[in-house]
Amino acid sequence: MGGMSEEKPWPDSIQAGECEQHEPLVRRVLAPNPSPYTYTGTQTWIVGAGSDVAVIDPGPTGSGLSIGDPSDINGIGHVDAILRAVEGQRVAAILCTHTHRDHSPAAAPLKEATGAPIIGCAPLALSDDGPRADSAFDPDYAPDRVLTDGERISGDGWTLEAVATPGHTSNHLCFGLVESGALFTGDHVMAWSTSVVSPPDGDMAAYMASLSKLYDRDDRVYYPAHGAAVTKPRQLVRGMLGHRKQRERQILRELEKGTSVIPEMVKHMYKGLDPRLTGAAGRSVLAHLIDLENRGRVARDAERWRLVA
Ligand SMILES: [Zn+2]
Repeated sequence: MGGMSEEKPWPDSIQAGECEQHEPLVRRVLAPNPSPYTYTGTQTWIVGAGSDVAVIDPGPTGSGLSIGDPSDINGIGHVDAILRAVEGQRVAAILCTHTHRDHSPAAAPLKEATGAPIIGCAPLALSDDGPRADSAFDPDYAPDRVLTDGERISGDGWTLEAVATPGHTSNHLCFGLVESGALFTGDHVMAWSTSVVSPPDGDMAAYMASLSKLYDRDDRVYYPAHGAAVTKPRQLVRGMLGHRKQRERQILRELEKGTSVIPEMVKHMYKGLDPRLTGAAGRSVLAHLIDLENRGRVARDAERWRLVA
């Protein structure tokens, strides 16, 4: 899953299964899994215009999501749509930004169809204590090679560099296209919605640090895994940093007023929220509270939170 928004999906310029050219080296294929968490659906990015390509975030498979059935639309599966888009080119690498089920499950069938290695983020080692939202994780993700921050892979006319961006998940990577200054941001930065940060695998302090890391870069355009391309990247990132700081101030105010449990805070902070998104909003508030707890600003007794005097 990516973000959360009550906004109605934008009328996308393409239908699920179709392929659209965004710049000479970059194409997009839309997966058929629209939802409040995935917007118009997962976007699979294809990089390369020569003899070979990289495929970023191959997307979901049929059993991967509880919302809709993304395996089949009009009789055409998403993997088939990717294969059609790259006809005549060799798939040199399958890259995954992270292992949520709307991003990585199709890596395995795509590898089977093309023989390409799966490269990119690490598999996620899940700790097993505490409540979690791990139903959204892909437990079967098995990379052939894991990239660390700054590592590059290249093909015919393209070079992709891994940019470690933990926060949305601990294993999240963005990929920079060296030749054009584009950055594939996965679920780390999206224009349509703030990113879901759900503990324990989502970490608000790490997320903020990863936002600052992108703010210090000079990427020309972002291609997120959901929603429109971002043509003013630093402006958006600055706004997101500000938004998170504002949420933190709101939480501190709620605690000052004596609100101590998360569902009450969500009710006050997210007016008119789509009921389907209250769980995700609560996880986000929890992520802020854990960050504040780690900084010694708040403490908890079971489900009740309070300011530290
Ligand atoms: Zn995600």
